[in-house]
Amino acid sequence: MKKSDKSAFSKNKIRNDIILAAVILIIAVAGLLFVKLTKTQGNTVVVKIDGVKAVEYSLEEDVRYEIKTGKNNEDINVLVIKDGKASITEADCPDGICKDYRPISYVGETIVCLPHKVVVEITGDATDISLDAVV
Ligand SMILES: [Zn+2]
Repeated sequence: MKKSDKSAFSKNKIRNDIILAAVILIIAVAGLLFVKLTKTQGNTVVVKIDGVKAVEYSLEEDVRYEIKTGKNNEDINVLVIKDGKASITEADCPDGICKDYRPISYVGETIVCLPHKVVVEITGDATDISLDAVV
């Protein structure tokens, strides 16, 4: 009798593990969906140099713009807007991290070039559906 109790217990334990795994999976999928739903497509690219807005472009136009920084404008980041996405395709900064960013298009997404103090940020309309989604 004791033996069967034990096997019943371990069966329950396996079932609990499966339920736990399923719950984690559901949470992960829900989280992904949540992120997708709350992501708002931006419409404007704002370039900030040392925290000061330097220029802005619409995401709808295809643009290639050289962001010049440094004392003699010797530091270059090339901002490219294409197919509604912004990215930095060329830069002469020492780390080159800004070139590794994936193209951005959602509100709040940024590309940062620390050595050049350049921030490329996506902004959008004030109408933000994510507030409704949270509630
Ligand atoms: Zn950089």
